[in-house]
Amino acid sequence: MSRATPANATSEAVVDRLYRPLHDLRVSVTDRCNFRCVYCMPKSVFNKDYEFLKRNELLSWDNIVSVVEAVAPLGVRKIRLTGGEPLIRNDLEELIERIARVDGIQDISMTTNAALLTQRRAASLRDAGLKRINVSLDAMDDKTFHAMNDMGVNVSSVLHGIENAVAAGIDNVKVNMVVKKGLNDHSILPMAQHFHGTGQILRFIEFMDVGNSNAWDLTDVVTSAQIAERINESMPIEPAEANYKGEVAKRWRYLDGGGEIGIISSVSEPFCGDCSRARLSATGSIYTCLFASEGHDLRPQLEAKNPEQLKAHIQRIWEIRQDRYSETRTQVVTLRPKVEMSFIGG
Ligand code: SAM
Ligand code: SF4
Ligand code: SF4
Repeated sequence: MSRATPANATSEAVVDRLYRPLHDLRVSVTDRCNFRCVYCMPKSVFNKDYEFLKRNELLSWDNIVSVVEAVAPLGVRKIRLTGGEPLIRNDLEELIERIARVDGIQDISMTTNAALLTQRRAASLRDAGLKRINVSLDAMDDKTFHAMNDMGVNVSSVLHGIENAVAAGIDNVKVNMVVKKGLNDHSILPMAQHFHGTGQILRFIEFMDVGNSNAWDLTDVVTSAQIAERINESMPIEPAEANYKGEVAKRWRYLDGGGEIGIISSVSEPFCGDCSRARLSATGSIYTCLFASEGHDLRPQLEAKNPEQLKAHIQRIWEIRQDRYSETRTQVVTLRPKVEMSFIGG
């Protein structure tokens, strides 16, 4: 089997065993969060007895930049900062500035719950080089949102965060809503109505079986087809072309010109065939799949301070990759332990 070389490939660009390039790196900067979303960090597990990482266990900015410098020649163009909640780290700007200077990196974005996104913070992140932001918001009414974030955070805090990002000139703001049946699926339409015509693209995410603590069950999933149908009944939509190969969200356009939505169907229509993402945990392990049990610890190579050795190590990890969990989820025994999403980043 042969595949075309990606247009922006470097001479060292790497592909895995299924001919998938390495284009994106998601970097988790903390495993802590100010929310306790029931589908991600349920309080039954992430409570006062839970042992979060200590500050000295977190990868330093120097080390994160070394990893970015190692993966850029291998083909990585996009870096996304995530967590846990990345805005908990008050020195993110320095990291963003340093990543922006790495040769080959074209795009730096962040996924956040936006509750801590003040006007001043949004401006300093933009000045540092943050180009895009994905904000998670699961409902338009406080009662439902409280049931999702489980920390009593109001919808208005997140909406203010979004306004602050836009006011700071970060115009590429997307909003992510995880849909869990019986919990917030009644919010699909109110969310679509709120963001219709705003230029902020709302993306619905099927509830996934990440980690071991969110008590996932297939019957809790509202499929992408059901989400599209529900919106189409009140606000007619039509499918739109993908912006680029490997785009995870399927695009739908409102027929009345009110913009578009996206639907990420990792359960009902998996997209492993185009998966070009690696994840770097807050402790310095690379994960080649969101549903992996184990990562590859990069700390020995980082401690050796040998950039060529680090690059070669990551190259080998990617070359032997053959993950396609979502395409096989119904065939494999899913009881094996999986890493928590708050640890490796969504
Ligand atoms: N705290 C930030 C936030 O919520 O945006 C960043 C980290 S969070 C782990 C990244 C993304 O993963 C969020 O959009 C969140 O909604 C999504 N996520 C977490 N658990 C999920 C699950 N079980 N199924 C689908 N998406 C999930
Ligand atoms: Fe925190 Fe994000 Fe997980 Fe919610 S989804 S608990 S905001 S890390
Ligand atoms: Fe990529 Fe793994 Fe998700 Fe498939 S299941 S799309 S390989 S992260």
